[in-house]
Amino acid sequence: MNTHNRTLVWLRNDLRLRDNPALFHASQTGQGVVAVYVLCEEFVQRHVMAPARLDFIRRHLTLLSAELAELNIPLVLLREHKAMGIPDKLLSLARRENCDGIYFNAEYPLDELNRDRAVADLFQDSGMHFKRFHDRVILPPGHVRNGQGEPYKVFTAFKRRWLQLASERPMDPHPAPPVQPEDTARVHDAGVPLNKLFDQTALRDLSELWPAGEEEALQRLADFTEERIHRYQQDRDFPALAGTSELSPYLAVGSLSPRQCLNAALRANRGQWDGGNPGAETWIGELVWRDFYQHVSVDFPEVCKHKALQRHTEAFPWRWDEDDLNDWRRGRTGIPIVDAAMRQLAQTGWMHNRLRMVVAMFLTKNLRIDWRLGEAWFMSQLIDGDFAANNGGWQWSASTGTDAAPYFRIFNPVTQSERFDPEGTFIRKYVPELKDLPRKQVHRPPPVAGYPRPMVDLKASRKETIELFKQLNQGPNDDA
Ligand SMILES: Cc1cc2nc3c(=O)[nH]c(=O)nc-3n(C[C@H](O)[C@H](O)[C@H](O)COP(=O)(O)OP(=O)(O)OC[C@H]3O[C@@H](n4cnc5c(N)ncnc54)[C@H](O)[C@@H]3O)c2cc1C
Repeated sequence: MNTHNRTLVWLRNDLRLRDNPALFHASQTGQGVVAVYVLCEEFVQRHVMAPARLDFIRRHLTLLSAELAELNIPLVLLREHKAMGIPDKLLSLARRENCDGIYFNAEYPLDELNRDRAVADLFQDSGMHFKRFHDRVILPPGHVRNGQGEPYKVFTAFKRRWLQLASERPMDPHPAPPVQPEDTARVHDAGVPLNKLFDQTALRDLSELWPAGEEEALQRLADFTEERIHRYQQDRDFPALAGTSELSPYLAVGSLSPRQCLNAALRANRGQWDGGNPGAETWIGELVWRDFYQHVSVDFPEVCKHKALQRHTEAFPWRWDEDDLNDWRRGRTGIPIVDAAMRQLAQTGWMHNRLRMVVAMFLTKNLRIDWRLGEAWFMSQLIDGDFAANNGGWQWSASTGTDAAPYFRIFNPVTQSERFDPEGTFIRKYVPELKDLPRKQVHRPPPVAGYPRPMVDLKASRKETIELFKQLNQGPNDDA
């Protein structure tokens, strides 16, 4: 066994070799690297991690451990009940395996920040070093500020500044780590075997739809940016088309980095950040949305504590109706596009972006059910569940968050359906009860055996919600 001072690399949602700054920089010391992954049962429960997502992580770890082994980097797997037990576990691993420091890539929700601070403090107090890198975002939180040095709550202004700053910075992805010395390749204890790591956790295998791995992710990125990105602008709102990249699961577990996505999009757009092909330009804008919500979760940590970003909306009289909530969850609302979307989520672990907005507004604005219940349900189902994007999307839809459009931001789900699924192709795919209806009826079906009648009057509920929003007093600190 070696006696070198190796570096411990703590892998989390960055399950890849390429463009992984923590892994890359650790590999540069030439002293060897030990990688570790910790499954924290408290986080699995508290953050309502979907069984589909956990299985996706499991499948990624299987591939990654073999790829790391080829580079002489052993992967240790640990399980821990409580997040606050993690620092001690990592420190004893580092000591046992002769590591003199720990590297990791930052995660931004409050619980994760607190956990990482505790790890960093313990390592430093124990005479070891730690280094934190940024890979989950293109520009790190804190970098995009307005003229007064304040964070943005409005996307368009954030994007303008983001484009200015990002286009001035080098964006080259890091290469994969080089092969490490052979005598650094072993560990005393590899921890919990992979086939036992998820023993206490519900898993859902969606491998046919979502094959795991960095190679798969890069191939999908190439397919999208070489073939479909140029039609993104036209196709992206139509759920029956494969108009979007469907890369979100890979970005969520980190088998792909946003910087790799940006580089591929820039190549497709002949190096132009703004302008150029409208598809590529719009898609780059989606990567900015992604950064935006990560920044929001750091700048406004109250959103990590189940609080509305627009404080005055905390007074909104949300309903807590378990039966209505369950009809929505099961795709039995009687509004075909909402039901098709909710069933897409249940069957595939993923939902088209336009439909995420449609079902979120239906839950919050027509059923008037608390957005936090929808947020949690999404996390429990989504293979791409990501705290910042999910919370941001829910608060945006509920008008409690960023770009807090006035209270009237309410989609009519039927109008959306007629516009974005004009032939009813998507509805028929997921709601077989309606498959024989003609195009004209599929959005507003007559009574059909086995299919529910609309559970709510869309017009009346919309009006009622608007009235209730009007009664809220806008606070002085809102909507900066
Ligand atoms: C209520 C609600 C909940 C959401 N929950 C999540 C979630 O848990 N995880 C998640 O990754 N996205 C979430 N989104 C954002 C968006 O719906 C998905 O990122 C997108 O549908 C993923 O599909 P795609 O990879 O084909 O996206 P593309 O259209 O190809 O976009 C490329 C990438 O940009 C990012 N992106 C795109 N739109 C957004 C957005 N509005 N906000 C943040 N990032 C974006 C994603 O990483 C996406 O993979 C949510 C949106 C809403 C309205």
